[in-house]
Amino acid sequence: MAEKRKCVIIGSGPAGLTAAIYASRAGLDPLLYEGMEPGGQLTTTTEVENFPGYPEGVTGPVLMEDIKKQALRFKAEIRSGLIEKVDFSKRPFLLVDDEGREIEAETVIIATGASAKWLGIPGEKEYSGFGVSACATCDGYFYRGKVVAVVGGGDTAAEEATYLAKLASKVYLIHRRDQLRASKAMQQKVFNTPNIEVVWNAIPKEIIGETRGFGKAVTGLVVIDKNTGEEKTLKVDGVFVAIGHKPNTDIFKGQLELDEAGYIITQPKSTRTSVPGVFAAGDVQDPVYRQAITAAGSGCMAALDAERFLTMNE
Ligand code: FAD
Ligand code: NAP
Repeated sequence: MAEKRKCVIIGSGPAGLTAAIYASRAGLDPLLYEGMEPGGQLTTTTEVENFPGYPEGVTGPVLMEDIKKQALRFKAEIRSGLIEKVDFSKRPFLLVDDEGREIEAETVIIATGASAKWLGIPGEKEYSGFGVSACATCDGYFYRGKVVAVVGGGDTAAEEATYLAKLASKVYLIHRRDQLRASKAMQQKVFNTPNIEVVWNAIPKEIIGETRGFGKAVTGLVVIDKNTGEEKTLKVDGVFVAIGHKPNTDIFKGQLELDEAGYIITQPKSTRTSVPGVFAAGDVQDPVYRQAITAAGSGCMAALDAERFLTMNE
């Protein structure tokens, strides 16, 4: 027999856990699935300095534990495990978890986030959070007056490079071709910024670093010239990988309207998806801002939207 719930939340990042706080306070008795990364992307980082309410900053894992405690205080049910299959074609919606349990849900809030694409080169994993990042807005502040590399040639890389150029003394923009993919306007910004140097036809080979005290730090990026095969090491203090993001929406393909990059399309000024009763919050529906606070904000919106939906359909 399927378990019956008013509201199921998929994902335990800032969006999902904030939705859980609001949904439980509204009496929706939500069930939240944590997924393969309990606490979401922020659990992979060290300092978070831009989340309101923490004047001295907070580490990602502590911040997420705090939000989880707040959700538990209002009796949200938080369950380990993944949702592996959904059927939004009938009501109540049917969800199946990784233990084969079936849940019938009157409303679903999708907060499965997005994952940065990584290069997969030596040193990248090892120095993640210690000089390797996929978010300039999050980590740029730590590189004031330092030298950094941004990898990628699209709008994100161009945007990250121009943002970092305001903080760092020098920014190398590493691109694997001889032409940027970014829009003309973004390219002009890059070319007009004196402390950005574009390194053309450069294939990243390895990120190198060293142990410092109890931690470690990046010291360089090895690149290979695609045309000549020549290898060189750029001395940098940080490497920002900006080669795109992938929203975690594989299980929703064919069930919900997605854009061409796979992000869930929500209606303006709401978290409503193409299926009434299914809402989406956080990075999974946001290719633009991708911040913890915007994810949390839209998690709040999704819970309010779900509550309204249930009231209207009672
Ligand atoms: P996520 O945090 O991505 O969480 C997604 C959740 O969905 C996870 O819990 C996952 O387990 C779950 N999930 C996925 N699929 C399933 C499934 N099938 N079933 C069940 N659960 C599932 N932002 C800032 O504002 N400040 C920062 O300083 C900052 N630093 C960052 C540093 C790093 C290294 C990274 C990668 C990101 C950083 N960000 C920062 C961005 C921020 O982490 C994201 O914007 C935010 O986490 C998005 O929240 P979310 O809830 O939408 O999704
Ligand atoms: P993107 O457009 O897909 O660009 C990814 C870039 O990374 C490309 O230049 C690609 O090189 C490079 N790349 C991919 N894999 C690589 C690898 N393994 N090694 C080295 N380089 C690699 O992604 P995005 O820049 O994140 O942009 C995504 C979408 O969001 C786009 O539609 C973009 O316009 C939009 N966006 C808009 C704005 C804005 O308007 N302000 C800001 C950010 C993003 P190639 O070029 O050789 O393929």
